Amino acid sequence: MQNLLERIASAVRPLARTGRVASYIPGLADVEPSQFGIAIATLEGDIYAAGDSDQPFSIQSISKVFALTLAMRLKDDELWARVGRLPSSNQFNSLIELELEEGKPRNPFLNPGALAVSDMLSSRNTQMELAVLSLLRDLSGNAALQYDLDVARGEFACAHRNLAAAHLMKSFGNFRNPVEDVVKAYCAQCAIAASCKDLAVAALFLANGGADLRMRKVLEARQAQQVCALMMSSGTYEASGETAFSIGLPIKSGVGGGVLAVIPRFGTVCSWSPPLDEKGNSVAGLKAIELVAAELDRTVFS
Ligand code: GLU
Repeated sequence: MQNLLERIASAVRPLARTGRVASYIPGLADVEPSQFGIAIATLEGDIYAAGDSDQPFSIQSISKVFALTLAMRLKDDELWARVGRLPSSNQFNSLIELELEEGKPRNPFLNPGALAVSDMLSSRNTQMELAVLSLLRDLSGNAALQYDLDVARGEFACAHRNLAAAHLMKSFGNFRNPVEDVVKAYCAQCAIAASCKDLAVAALFLANGGADLRMRKVLEARQAQQVCALMMSSGTYEASGETAFSIGLPIKSGVGGGVLAVIPRFGTVCSWSPPLDEKGNSVAGLKAIELVAAELDRTVFS
């Protein structure tokens, strides 16, 4: 496994040159683009890693998997009344469907859907971003995880679309708390910095029927399957159909360049390389996951 990861790291590193680091969030524009890390965590408790797998990076939309987990633990009924489960062919920050579909975001991984989730969590937590951070600290076993405040502040300063999405939802009665507070908390949640190893370990419950390796129930088994289904149908933006076709695993990516994949009943893989393709997925990171799935011959269909 170790050799496999080293080989994959060498094979995909050059691909990063074809992508571009996200620059619409000021704190992300200066990240060194040549960094690459990958980690596999297995249900046996083993971790294999290569490259910059201990280097914390901005997890951005990968945080949406953990925020969704918290929301599903609260109240499935309210959540699914407010947020759909449909894929979208629009960009993650688009407002078009939101207007046409009367303020109900298509899924919890689009920005409007994630904002509705943050709003739901904000109704029960004075600082919902802390609840997401605490869950990640607990599941990863890394109590030192933090948000990068510069990234969070930089994003909030230019969060016009996210503020607009939240206001639009509020106009349709699908937003409860003050818009600015929730968007600020959402930016902090996205600015959590974690490494490939942290994220791979934290997501193991999704490969293990909802329970972590200490057999603590994080989600019901059915709910864990549902999170995986959403990752498969909507986790890599408008490329999700293509990703399901070419890789065949539940995957969530973020504009910080992280890509988190679940291999049911086996474990998780997390890769990181900052340069993105035009849809917002890490070029080298996604290719690395594809190679792992192919080499291990593990997809949800195999
Ligand atoms: N914080 C980012 C945003 O709201 C997350 C985007 C992403 O990683 O997909 O635009």
